[in-house]
Amino acid sequence: MPELPEAEAARQRIEDGALHRTIERITLGEVSHMDLPDEEAQARLIGTQFTRTHRHGKYIFVGSVEGPWLHIHLGMAGSIRVTHGQSDLPDFIRFSLVFEGGNTLHFRDPRKFGHIEVIEDVDDFIAQKGLGPDALLIGDNAFAQNVGGTRGAVKSALLSQKKIAGIGNLWADETLYRTGVDPEARACDLAADRVARMHRASQEILQAVVDTGADYSRLPDDWLIHHREAGDACTRCDGSIEKKTVGGRTSYFCPTHQKGV
Ligand SMILES: [Zn+2]
Repeated sequence: MPELPEAEAARQRIEDGALHRTIERITLGEVSHMDLPDEEAQARLIGTQFTRTHRHGKYIFVGSVEGPWLHIHLGMAGSIRVTHGQSDLPDFIRFSLVFEGGNTLHFRDPRKFGHIEVIEDVDDFIAQKGLGPDALLIGDNAFAQNVGGTRGAVKSALLSQKKIAGIGNLWADETLYRTGVDPEARACDLAADRVARMHRASQEILQAVVDTGADYSRLPDDWLIHHREAGDACTRCDGSIEKKTVGGRTSYFCPTHQKGV
């Protein structure tokens, strides 16, 4: 499932290929049951140019200073492509913006759980969703308060988009694995320096994944991402990986080096 790094890679593709170009037309693929801009919303976009992008957690935005914004949510399997001229198109294109000069921004979504909508203001949108600070930008104090202050399981706190936006299941597990924290530990029982280490680790992990363009195969072999199987050898100690459901999500961890307190 796309998480923050995929959203950031998509934002970067939009930034590189879709700004400062006039939108000539919009084409739709097979879009039954999908939530996409209606004709009226599409008409507002024709003839305008995007001038900036923004990302908050897994949410992607592209817009301009005066005009409306597009909010793009990748859903379960969505992605963004920008093509130039008559290049071969991938399957499952749902929504395409054709720009003057030949670039086209495509929203591809095989599973149709993604959506696109026209919104007026990004800050209002983020406030209405009740999203916490972006995981790559959240500061020490906010992390200590929002995550470290939680009475529930630390993994659930990391996954709560209202506390911190953009950490999904994979990178919550990776953060806890790297810092030796039991996913079921009560966050408020953890010492301040352990919470601070989780903060640093989460940002280093997310940034490293962003730097690969969300290509997980390029991540180091000793990361948990490559060992998400019960019984696999732990890469940080003599233990082995176990699987457990925490806060409703499948979690992989090493009970030997990941401790509660
Ligand atoms: Zn271990």
